[in-house]
Amino acid sequence: MGNYLRPTIVSLVTAIALMFSEARAQPEDALSRISRTVVTGESAELLRQLTDEIGARLAGSAAYERAVQWAVEKFRETGITDVRREAFVLPNSWLRGHARARIVNPVARDLRVGSVGWGPSTPAGGVRGELMLVSDLSPATLRSQSMRLDKRIVLIDLEKVLPPDEPLAFARLRNSFAVFKELGVQAVLLPHDAPGNAAGWVDTGNARGAILPLPVGDIGWEDSLLLRRHLARGPVTLEAEWQNTISGPVQVSNVIAEISGSEAPREWVLLGAHLDSWDLGTGAHDNGTGVVMVLEAARAIASLGRPPRRSIRFALWAAEEPGPAGSAMFIKRHTGELRDCVAVLNTDNGAGRPRGWHVNGRTDVREAMAPIAARLQNPDAAELSMDLSCASDDCPFLLEGIPALKLWVDTAQYRRLHHQASDTFDKVDAELLRRGAAVAAMTTYAIADHPGRIGQHIGEDAVRQLLRSAGLDADLVYTLWRP
Ligand SMILES: [Zn+2]
Repeated sequence: MGNYLRPTIVSLVTAIALMFSEARAQPEDALSRISRTVVTGESAELLRQLTDEIGARLAGSAAYERAVQWAVEKFRETGITDVRREAFVLPNSWLRGHARARIVNPVARDLRVGSVGWGPSTPAGGVRGELMLVSDLSPATLRSQSMRLDKRIVLIDLEKVLPPDEPLAFARLRNSFAVFKELGVQAVLLPHDAPGNAAGWVDTGNARGAILPLPVGDIGWEDSLLLRRHLARGPVTLEAEWQNTISGPVQVSNVIAEISGSEAPREWVLLGAHLDSWDLGTGAHDNGTGVVMVLEAARAIASLGRPPRRSIRFALWAAEEPGPAGSAMFIKRHTGELRDCVAVLNTDNGAGRPRGWHVNGRTDVREAMAPIAARLQNPDAAELSMDLSCASDDCPFLLEGIPALKLWVDTAQYRRLHHQASDTFDKVDAELLRRGAAVAAMTTYAIADHPGRIGQHIGEDAVRQLLRSAGLDADLVYTLWRP
């Protein structure tokens, strides 16, 4: 076929597309129907089932598998026929056992401790050693103190090691574990960063299902202060023991449901949330609310009875918390289809008041999203933010150059609760959850039905530039989040 024919074909296709788009319900009508379906739906009941009945769902646990079965059932109840599990192997599952610790010198006192997730057990019977406060985690500094660190239990000086807004700090902390192990440290204690004297620090991030090199526990904030007061006066000896169950390689599944597009079914938009949770609470805001938003979006869009132009994939990811494993695995498995991915929308910030979307630094995406966002006036979530962060399942897609958006909600409550024992059903405002679900549903449909794409794929150099302009270390982000 000669090139000269193209304009004619294009205009014919455009004319037909216009006829079709005039024949179907106006987008506003579709969006209003989607919104009404969600706000009159039973988001809170779904969340109650997931949190109160299935409960905490660590990736690889029996509860996670129950959550997968439940999600498959819920997707099928929407009428969507293409619902599938995409299984992969996580290097380890991890189940919390008991944890205890006490000061044995200069006083005898029990301490509030827990194990960090995907951390190994202490030797049976526990460890006993002198405590040492560590404020500088650079490997050179640690190695220069090797004689002093041998056989110690290390207490991390949290303010010095994790100053706020220091993007490298977490990576430095994580990398220090191997050095501590090499230098003969018996265990590391991370103070919890909030009052209440509860052990609540479960996560050191991006473990990808690997087991940490040495036992890492967390200790209640007030108990960590007690230890520091004693340390200021002289040597402190501790005993600590925690026992976890580690499985070795275990199969876990993402759950994917797909609505095929009416005009360009090869192109797809993805709305996703992670299905796994930490184990202290029941993962209500993190990320039961995100799961419910995805399920409700699927139900509302399926109930229209008329698919949008492009296909929509609804994804519930495995193992974001000890990962990101599920979204990364999806990208690897579907590499050949990524070029047809128009956008990825992620919801993983709880169910605070919805405000709109973060566009992860993409000016072009913000511009293209403006008319879509304008249609979110009714749920009052029409704002677009340039904020870029790499902290959830949108990041692996962002690194592939795909337009990746995060639902923007007020996060004050989420920040206090997520990963904690208090992240439970009672903390979620049902009305705000429904509104968040409506915004997720309407936006997903609008992007899938939009005449043009909301942004092109960009190359790695451009992604690195975006990361740098957001103050992030591009090499580090790629190391931690690349699929
Ligand atoms: Zn989360």
